[in-house]
Amino acid sequence: MYIVSIDDDQCSGCDSCADGCPARILSFDRSRGKAYVSGDEAECMGCEACVAVCPGGAIIITEM
Ligand code: SF4
Ligand code: SF4
Repeated sequence: MYIVSIDDDQCSGCDSCADGCPARILSFDRSRGKAYVSGDEAECMGCEACVAVCPGGAIIITEM
């Protein structure tokens, strides 16, 4: 099981992470210009595809 954390302060709003999540648990809030966890974190498979595409290091995946 993984915990998915997105640091708003580090998110530059590039919208690169949500579409690439194979578990479809990330979304992008256009009104705020920030990515957020919209789905069930229990579905996260820890692939870190989101981490790889994030230019700001805003996403942290922690294995529990
Ligand atoms: S680690 Fe993989 S499955 Fe988990 S939120 Fe990131 S892209 Fe999605
Ligand atoms: S890839 Fe990083 S900077 Fe871009 S929207 Fe996602 S969290 Fe924000």
